[in-house]
Formats: sequence, C-alpha cells, structure tokens
Amino acid sequence: MSGSLRPVLLAVLWVAGMTSVLALPLASSVPGGIALVPLGTVLDTPDPPRAWFGDQPVWVAQDNGHWVAIVGVPLDTPAGTKTLRVTEHTGERSVDFPVSVKRYPEQHVRLKDSSKVTLSPDDEKRALAEIERIQALKRHWRMATDTDSSFARPADGRLASRFGLRRIFNGEPRAPHSGLDIAVPLGTPILATAAGRVLAVDDYFFNGKTVFVDHGNGLLSMYCHLDRIDVKEGDTLRKGQRLGLAGATGRASGPHLHWSVVLNGAMVDPELFLKRK
Ligand SMILES: [Zn+2]
Repeated sequence: MSGSLRPVLLAVLWVAGMTSVLALPLASSVPGGIALVPLGTVLDTPDPPRAWFGDQPVWVAQDNGHWVAIVGVPLDTPAGTKTLRVTEHTGERSVDFPVSVKRYPEQHVRLKDSSKVTLSPDDEKRALAEIERIQALKRHWRMATDTDSSFARPADGRLASRFGLRRIFNGEPRAPHSGLDIAVPLGTPILATAAGRVLAVDDYFFNGKTVFVDHGNGLLSMYCHLDRIDVKEGDTLRKGQRLGLAGATGRASGPHLHWSVVLNGAMVDPELFLKRK
C-alpha cells in the first residue's frame, strides 16, 4: 500500500466502523423485537425519508450509505407482513417487512394471597388512570440527530425476569413482562443507559417511583420501583449519569430494577440494545 493512500483508507474504515457501532440495535423482527427496514441509498435520496408504522413516526437512521427504518414491533403484533408508510420528496410509498412468530417462555406462579392479584375498586381506578398517562408518554416523539442506541446497562446484577415472559398467576394469564428485571440490592445507583432528557418522573401504583428518559426519535427508557429519584423533568442526562437509587416501590416483591425500552410507542426487548453484532 502506498504511503499516501494509507491514512485515507484508515479514515474510511474508521468512519464505517463508527456508523455500524453507533447506529443500529440488534435486528429481531418478532413481536417485542426490532425490525431494520432498508429504505434506499443516501445517494438516491439525500434527504432522510420519513416513515410511519401505523400512526407512530419511526426512527430513520443512516447506516453505511443506506437509510434504515428502526421499527419497534409491539408484543401483541400477529406474525405476517407489515407495512411502513414512507414519505420523501418524490412522494409517498409503502414498504413491506416481515414479522416472525416468537414464543416467549411461560411461568406459572401460585399466590396464596389473592388480594395481590385482585385490586380494590380505588386501586383499580388509580392504576387505570396511570396506564393512560403512561401510554401517552410512550408515544412521545422528538426528532434528534444524536440518538445513541448502544446502551450501557443501567445497573449490574443478575438478570431476573426477562422481557416477554408470560406470567400466569393462579391460572390467570397476566400481561407479558414488558421489561427486563435486574436484581440489585436496595440503594444501588441506577444509571442512564444513554444520553437523553428526562421526559417524566412519577410515583405509580404498579411501577412505583419511575423515571422516563427520552433519547430522541421515539426511543425512550423507563426505570421503575426506584427508592429515590435524583433527577427532574427536563434535565439533560449524560450516559451513565445516576438517576436515582434502586428500591421496591409500587408492586414489587423485593428490591430490583424493572427496565423498559420503548421504540415508536412499542415496548421492545432491552437486551437488543445491549448485545452487539
Ligand atoms: Zn419487571
């Protein structure tokens, strides 16, 4: 290799490496997973295309000269062909992508105290109102150019209940587990998984003290059952910054972090943002 070409080639390799490391989570086009849908080359379409899945805007990023839609697939999506609506300067088009079946593990739990399964009318009213507020937060959208999807673990600890686990209490199926539980002692610092802004801070019936962080482009992270919260709405966070301390507030059988990741309104498997190719 000639001496003059070498630095150029190294620079090209470095940039290519940067984009593939920084840009994309692990693809898994299943319910609760992430579909990476190619939308054409940057050369053909210099302006980023805009994409929607249903009525939710979808994150579109550049990867090695191509536009890619990074689509969160809701857990209750039936397998089959799905369609994105894509708009660009030339007009609107539809882009299909497949979603495959995934059967998540099942866990049967026998509880002697059925009051932990059945809510009082007051608790039920509160919980339902909170679920609506949380649904609205999950649909939050902010366009950004610096979304970092290579997440750091928010806490070190044993991975307890995984995402998607189908829990059945006394023979009654519950909603599947929409996050990843990390077993940590009370008071363990909980760290922002990536840079972002605090979207909301609240104390919920089920989730307890909770922080929502907005990473831009419809990518959010949610940290639940905290004992103490150290941030407030609107704060800008850097990756690894402490949000609060782990606890067992809300409906928790013991101290642990319940960590959820939301993409275009869908709860997706947080582990897809930790495992890299
Ligand atoms: Zn959990």
